[in-house]
Amino acid sequence: METIRVTVWGEFRHEKKNPQVAALYPDGMHETIAAALRADPRFSVRTATQDAPEHGLSEAVLANTDVLTWWGHIAHDEVEDAVVARVQARVLDGMGLIVLHSGHFSKIFKALMGTTCNLKWREAGERERIWVLEPSHPIAEGLGEYFELPQEEMYGERFDIPAPETLVLMSWFKGGEVFRSGCCYTRGKGRIFYFRPGHETYPTYHDANVQRVIANAVRWAAQPPSPKVIFGNYKPLETLE
Ligand code: ZN
Repeated sequence: METIRVTVWGEFRHEKKNPQVAALYPDGMHETIAAALRADPRFSVRTATQDAPEHGLSEAVLANTDVLTWWGHIAHDEVEDAVVARVQARVLDGMGLIVLHSGHFSKIFKALMGTTCNLKWREAGERERIWVLEPSHPIAEGLGEYFELPQEEMYGERFDIPAPETLVLMSWFKGGEVFRSGCCYTRGKGRIFYFRPGHETYPTYHDANVQRVIANAVRWAAQPPSPKVIFGNYKPLETLE
């Protein structure tokens, strides 16, 4: 694949309401995530936000998206079911999806996982150490054994997800909890990666390692078009007795 077409989707509500978040992300978290991805000349990056018509995810946008990244939190319920169904259909047809942080409770992630996606949480600005469990996995490229975020929200197990096909990253928090932080799935033809960090009141999306994981995940989740799959009644290849 020559160019990877990325759509960075952001709820873009906290940034308008909370001055602390606006100071960290003056143009929105989605623009910080997109700017980091634009450092790779192979990526063609656009952004979309929840309050745009069709949440910025029209049929045309999705048809021209190889990988979609998703950050949402306080307005999951306001995402229209028709758009969720449209995104899910595109994932099953091969679009990559990177679900970030509080996106664990998004309609699209819950629909694709089939579980509650619930977890423990605590907002105490504590240190997070993210261990690389699969150093040869493409999403771990360039990370070393682990990296740390000085302040993050804690997410703790149990995280109610199906067992990941590959668990690339595992978090430890100062308070003692652990969490499956980098989870790979396949649904239909599409690749899905859940990546835990990214609470809005911390500068997480300015962190070089976090940016590297997202870029690596985009490259991993992007797939060239594949042949149409044939379903339904089927003629035998050989003469039947
Ligand atoms: Zn959070």
